[in-house]
Amino acid sequence: MVTRVIPVDPFDLVIFGGTGDLAKRKILPGLYRRYLSGQMPVEAQIIGAARGELDDEGFRALVTESIETFVAKSEQDPEAIKSFVEHCSYIKVDAKGTGGWKELASKVRQNVVQAYYFSVAPSLFGDLAKGLQANGMAGDNARIVVEKPFGRDLATAKELNSVLVDVFDEHQIYRIDHYLGKETVQNLMAVRFGNVLFEPLWNSQYVDHIQVTVAETVGVGGRGSYYDKSGAMRDMVQNHLMQLLCLIAMEPPSKFDPDAVRDEKLKVIRALDPVAADDIVRGQYRSDGDQPSYLEEVDDPQSKTESFLALKIGVSNWRWNGTPFYLRTGKKMSARMSEIVVVFKDPPHSIFGEEAGSTHNVLTIRLQPDEGMNLSVTIKEPGPGGMRLIEVPLDMSFAEALGTDASDMPDAYERLIMDVIRGNQTLFMRGDEVEAAWMWTDPIINGWDRRGDKPSPYKQNSSGPEESLMLLHRDGRRWRDIDT
Ligand code: NAP
Repeated sequence: MVTRVIPVDPFDLVIFGGTGDLAKRKILPGLYRRYLSGQMPVEAQIIGAARGELDDEGFRALVTESIETFVAKSEQDPEAIKSFVEHCSYIKVDAKGTGGWKELASKVRQNVVQAYYFSVAPSLFGDLAKGLQANGMAGDNARIVVEKPFGRDLATAKELNSVLVDVFDEHQIYRIDHYLGKETVQNLMAVRFGNVLFEPLWNSQYVDHIQVTVAETVGVGGRGSYYDKSGAMRDMVQNHLMQLLCLIAMEPPSKFDPDAVRDEKLKVIRALDPVAADDIVRGQYRSDGDQPSYLEEVDDPQSKTESFLALKIGVSNWRWNGTPFYLRTGKKMSARMSEIVVVFKDPPHSIFGEEAGSTHNVLTIRLQPDEGMNLSVTIKEPGPGGMRLIEVPLDMSFAEALGTDASDMPDAYERLIMDVIRGNQTLFMRGDEVEAAWMWTDPIINGWDRRGDKPSPYKQNSSGPEESLMLLHRDGRRWRDIDT
């Protein structure tokens, strides 16, 4: 069941790469769900564009199949799918050629929002931007959506930005990071800035440390050759984890407005300390029974690319000086989960004596699998055993609190595509943010390359290399368990 919502304004959405994996798995199913909710206006057009020989019927069959494969069975209404695909059509366009552009230009309407989703390799972004400009589709109503990876270092990100800003204004460029579209991530802002409870404590005086974990159970599988050129730092930390860190650490923006929020995020990135070599742990999963190792999967026994990364990061500003942020992400972990954990300090003095034990408050913000928040508070253990303190959870499961099913909530992609149509850039990365993130990342990666650092092997179905546990142990802390 999808909650009904108010429709957005009429739009034309052109998906370059409309026949690709991302379109099939995320974009098209997401649009169908928005259609089902009543948010997609009847006048909307979805135009798939790629080089393949396909007609409208062929594309509609592809859209139907992607909905049948990637949308929950309970949401597959054959009548709705049939009427949804009526909105879909296809034009054969080669980003690098001239064919198809005129036909596309005559199909998109000038008087509605025109969104161009670049769901193709970044090497084609420049050709697409120029093709749109040359064919009169880069006017004021146009906006473009670009996918990660946004560069592989500062130089390539700058190059990409300059290609795009040659044709479009920054307010027309939507750099997508789907982590920002997650319900809990926005709730992080609601909790921080919509309550008086947390903000006074949200600083190094009261917060002992913060952990961000993004763990995947899958390995690199068929993406080995792509992944081996990036690794966990480029694929996850520079974008997703960095964005989460920014939202946790940023100062309250003056309003919930795209530039106000992004200005504050940028200040956080600029305040990140350089990371010392012994505050970094890199790993590569080894073989396990019949499960191949990372090196076997990427088919390069000499590869030095990390499939696991843990970092201790300092933020040099008044709010956070002295409170470390520990980030970790990896493949072939024991569970698939993404979590932000804010560990508060112990009370300054215990009035209950040593035998009562000591506990501290922990705020856990879970992005997946079950989006929600949990605040542990200290209470007295029930019973006649005297004053013994225990931690109990104040659970804020969205599903329970709001009486909704998790499947009811829009997926991150759905929400972000609708934000593009509404013209709201708050949850998209600005060019200077992306460049600042690379500016911080580049010296770390260059250091590994220069020294020829090799990642440590780690067991599959684990929480990564031993050294990652030591990263916290030596500070008298421990990672939260990776579980579901
Ligand atoms: P993909 O499966 O390889 O699809 C690429 C699409 O681009 C196909 O539709 C392809 O169709 C089209 N294409 C290729 N060359 C073209 C050209 N010269 N002109 C016009 N269309 C062209 O790739 P993908 O996985 O969907 O990824 C698309 C983008 O999203 C990439 O930038 C990727 O890094 C990013 N991304 C993907 C995922 C994911 O989960 N898949 C996640 C995050 C980011 P034809 O070959 O028929 O032209």
